[in-house]
Amino acid sequence: MIKVLVWNEFMHEKDKNCKASEIYPDGIHGVIAEFLGKEDDIEVRTATLDDENCGITKEILDDTDVIIWWGHCGHSRVPDEIAAMVQEAVLNGMGAIFLHSAHKSKPFMRLMGTSCSLTWRESDDMERVWTASPAHPIAQGIGRYFELEADETYGEPFGIPSPDETVFIGWYTGGEVFRSGCTWSRGNGKVFYLQPGHETYPTYKNPVIQKIILNAVRWAKPVFRSENCMDCPNLPSVQRAELL
Ligand code: ZN
Repeated sequence: MIKVLVWNEFMHEKDKNCKASEIYPDGIHGVIAEFLGKEDDIEVRTATLDDENCGITKEILDDTDVIIWWGHCGHSRVPDEIAAMVQEAVLNGMGAIFLHSAHKSKPFMRLMGTSCSLTWRESDDMERVWTASPAHPIAQGIGRYFELEADETYGEPFGIPSPDETVFIGWYTGGEVFRSGCTWSRGNGKVFYLQPGHETYPTYKNPVIQKIILNAVRWAKPVFRSENCMDCPNLPSVQRAELL
């Protein structure tokens, strides 16, 4: 079983004046946990900002294979120690998927080490997302491209380190382009960033987006996980005579 922790700040959805409360009455994490939970090989838990310690402890991370993170206006409310724990867990081997505005979340910024800034506007543009790496495991079953009727426009430059692979590139009717799906390895862990998913659109109910997240969970599961440095075994030195 792949143990997934879906973390969401869960703020917009509780604001009755925000459209997100109609689209995601049980939170973005609720929708993501629901579709992932239907898979036989996945076990899902959720955590939010209002939970004690943001719902994150070392024990919980040790028992998590892949963390999924959605955040926006609550980034600064996540304690630095929690962000450091998530970063450390990824370096040890845990997978991490950062969605949409999580590009400015503390754990993502720590893992990238760059500004992670981008340009953006909300104007209901249609987005056409192109598959740039069709052989990548995350792109399987997605096709050449797919379209989102509307989502927030994100534009380049995106202040990230060059990705190991750019799996998807988004194009908007307003003309912008954006690296919409990117992967990195950090220590023993794998990281995936996926751009679509502004809270006022039903993006996470879209079957194509759900398939991408599912593929990403299976891709990001740990291959090797260790907290400890490799030992330096001090093998007997090779005798000069043996070399002659
Ligand atoms: Zn947004």
